[in-house]
Amino acid sequence: MALSTLDRSARTYIAGHRGLVGGAVLRHFARIGFDDLVTRTSAELDLRDPVAVETFFAEQQPATVVLAAAKVGGIMANSTYPADFLSDNLRIQLNVLDAAARHGVTKLLFLGSSCIYPKYAEQPIREDSLLTGLLEPTNDAYAIAKIAGVLHVQALRRQYGFHYISAMPTNLYGPGDNFDPVGSHVLPGLIRRFDEAARVGAESVTVWGTGTPRREFLHVDDLARACVHLLENYDEPEPINVGVGEDLPIRELAQLVAEIVGYRGELAFDTSKPDGTPRKLLDVGKIHSLGWKAQISLRDGLSETYRWYRQQLAAGPLERG
Ligand code: GDP
Repeated sequence: MALSTLDRSARTYIAGHRGLVGGAVLRHFARIGFDDLVTRTSAELDLRDPVAVETFFAEQQPATVVLAAAKVGGIMANSTYPADFLSDNLRIQLNVLDAAARHGVTKLLFLGSSCIYPKYAEQPIREDSLLTGLLEPTNDAYAIAKIAGVLHVQALRRQYGFHYISAMPTNLYGPGDNFDPVGSHVLPGLIRRFDEAARVGAESVTVWGTGTPRREFLHVDDLARACVHLLENYDEPEPINVGVGEDLPIRELAQLVAEIVGYRGELAFDTSKPDGTPRKLLDVGKIHSLGWKAQISLRDGLSETYRWYRQQLAAGPLERG
């Protein structure tokens, strides 16, 4: 039995619905009967602009908010543009969280990332390891912004008693991802590169780093289900992890992608590219105890994401607005 069932007819704002996470959340919420969903593209509402955000909340008065809007990117994007990742994310969060509090939003879910945890946190990473050690330098600016968001949610709870919560998903993938060859995360990056190599019959494909770091991958549709589950079953200040509970080395991930896209050549490792954190497997004991579990296997999720990618290619240029 849910702690509190969300009112499906209450106005619900999905911030960031053009992104991987927000898009999946929007589809899922619509599917399960939310019938007053509000969205804005970044061209319609720049969440970094406090006046625009204030006006939007004053006019729309949402009751529930899922804060999935963020500037995100893979290891190269994060290490090349740390100022943008820090500044844009801090501003988006400040504006949305402050406006939500001012306009009486009753339920809010803030989405962070597993990179908020210390680089050498004990594995699997428990929620209480937050702020117990140094961060991974390739994404410390992004992580600090997200940590500020977690603290902001906690402060709003403490000062005003709001039922706002934070969830920390592991590395995500799925339809709607960014497949930019340089700026993307590892999975879309590899899907694109291996697919191109398979098509031209290349003899070798480059994978960044040593191939030894381990990562955990959650399909974004599983995360979308977790979002509703948490809004209905979780009401604590501590962030809660959302993951699958299993990880694999990047080398094995690359082999799986090669198999799925039908690439039969060699793998080459470019060790001039950063490895990032050696491992970040989330402890998912807490969310499991609330009755949620990931359902989509990596192989199934990857095959479906690859089909989606091929459809997008067939339909036209990939770059998103
Ligand atoms: P991270 O989890 O924050 O490190 O983000 P990424 O998804 O960008 O990278 C995960 C791991 O995959 C890192 O060890 C990268 O070096 C490695 N990797 C291998 N090939 C690629 C690639 O083509 N793109 C990206 N982004 N990472 C890659």
